[in-house]
Formats: sequence, C-alpha cells, structure tokens
Amino acid sequence: MSPNYAFFDGKPKWNKNYLNYTFDSSVTPEDIIGVGMPGSVLAHAAPPTIGKMHFDADENWSIDNPNGDQHDLVSVATHEIGHILGLQHSTNVDAIMYPFMNRGMAKRKLSDDDIDGIAALYAPARKT
Ligand SMILES: [Zn+2]
Repeated sequence: MSPNYAFFDGKPKWNKNYLNYTFDSSVTPEDIIGVGMPGSVLAHAAPPTIGKMHFDADENWSIDNPNGDQHDLVSVATHEIGHILGLQHSTNVDAIMYPFMNRGMAKRKLSDDDIDGIAALYAPARKT
C-alpha cells in the first residue's frame, strides 16, 4: 500500500529530540505561515522550525465529548502538532492529518499513515 502522508516543501524537520512550548496570547494569525485553508479555518500551525500554532477563539470548542455544534480541541490540536512536527495533509480519511473534520467528531488516535509519516521523517534509516 502506498503512503498517503505528505511533507512540506523542502521536508523541514526539527533537528533536536526535545521541544519546549509556551502559551502566548500575543501571537496573531498573521504570524502563522505555511498552512492556509479557505473557508472555515479552525486553527493554523507552522512547520519546523517555526512551530507556532493558533486556534480560532470564535469557534465553539469542546475539551471532552464534542456535541454536534462543537469542535474537538484535542483532535484539532493533535492535527496541528502534526504540522508543527513536519507533516502536511494526508489523503487517508482515517489519518489525523486528513484536512477535514466535522463538528461533533473526535479523532484522537494516530492512524498507521500518521505513524508511518512521522517515522519516515524522524526514525533513523534502517540498515539493509
Ligand atoms: Zn491541517
């Protein structure tokens, strides 16, 4: 089976094993580059080594079980962290990195496609 995952142009990645994070409310959407989706944009994230993420505060977020009017914050955050780590959108509908998620839906488990993509970017090359 061929992979559905994708990388950003130039295949940027982090060249360190530990990433630190901070919460900064002064970051604006204009600060975030690298990902742009027309229509209803829930969040943005920038690839390595920018690594910024922004959520649309006007959306109706859920941190537990989203109802039909809410977006699942954990699902969207997991997707955006995938971008921060260097994954682009996948064409696999089961993947966290699939670009569309409906309200009321929670997708929190990594698919094989997500895992294969991140391994292709970060795992040491296997000896043959
Ligand atoms: Zn995305």
